[in-house]
Amino acid sequence: MYLKIESCIMRTGINIIRANIHRLSPMAGALLLSFILGILMLPLPGNGETDVQPEFQWPLVKGEYPDLEYITSTFGESRIDHFHSGLDIAGNNDAIYPVAAGEIVFSRMHGDDPFHPMQGPGNYLFLHHEGDWWSGYYHLKAFDEEPRTGTVGPETVIGHSSNSGHSGGPHLHFFMSTEYGQRIMNPLVLLPPVTDIHPPVIGPLVIVSTDERRTHIQHSETQNIRLTQPYPIQIQLHDPGLEAYTRRGVYILEWQLNDEPAQTRRFDYIEFKNGDWRLHGEQAFDEVFRYNQYSLGELNWLHGGNRLHVKAVDFNGNVTEVDYFVNVDREY
Ligand SMILES: [Zn+2]
Repeated sequence: MYLKIESCIMRTGINIIRANIHRLSPMAGALLLSFILGILMLPLPGNGETDVQPEFQWPLVKGEYPDLEYITSTFGESRIDHFHSGLDIAGNNDAIYPVAAGEIVFSRMHGDDPFHPMQGPGNYLFLHHEGDWWSGYYHLKAFDEEPRTGTVGPETVIGHSSNSGHSGGPHLHFFMSTEYGQRIMNPLVLLPPVTDIHPPVIGPLVIVSTDERRTHIQHSETQNIRLTQPYPIQIQLHDPGLEAYTRRGVYILEWQLNDEPAQTRRFDYIEFKNGDWRLHGEQAFDEVFRYNQYSLGELNWLHGGNRLHVKAVDFNGNVTEVDYFVNVDREY
């Protein structure tokens, strides 16, 4: 947010400078401009990928900030065949506010949607914010008094949470994207920080054989396995969040087998690239999840003793690290 405000001021500043430089000789003006621009450009932190970032707020607050309750799903979780592209907050008939002031660019109810059979979002609404930002709100209650067009401010009630469309219970699903929808961001990266006191929970490794038999490998104790082919490895992993019972996605997953280079999954955004939505602009869904679990892919096990180190970090930086000690009888 700091960066974006600064870059706005910078742009305005450049325009003022340009206006004044016109009164100087072209050469002196160019020199002065490049000097000033150099000073202005240098201290810019961050990646500067978008010019403007509005000041974002939570669209639905359950509990007392920053201890937000009922965040039941986070960004980037597996939805069997695609990434969960937003964040879920459980609640019925709660007033929903926009993540920032903006303009309603699309608002549809189940019944008046011209793009049938798009049933998933139920009653939904898309907003365009300053810069190239969009946000969307799904599964809303049928619109009644709420605006369907025009601009909305941070205090405008844009809908109420409900259970319309493809939804397993009353909740708000919302997403936040930049680059006009090409890059969908993890809302936790953008919104004011909330409490999460529980570190991720790492369970066993799971190997699914060709006949669908599942083998579990627990961490901390040495296990012996016989492999006839390089099966992909899954890992049971979730983050409890504020409430101990929720099972949410993690922010960072890292693993390292023996002395091989460590591998990382970072759930900060998904981007549409080379015909697929890719996590962090890199991995397609099938590389990140299998059987609805986090996938580590085909590990290059050594015949004999192996150590697999796994580290999981949640959105608040709570860390869990485990080691799996696996004796592999490698038959391939
Ligand atoms: Zn959702």
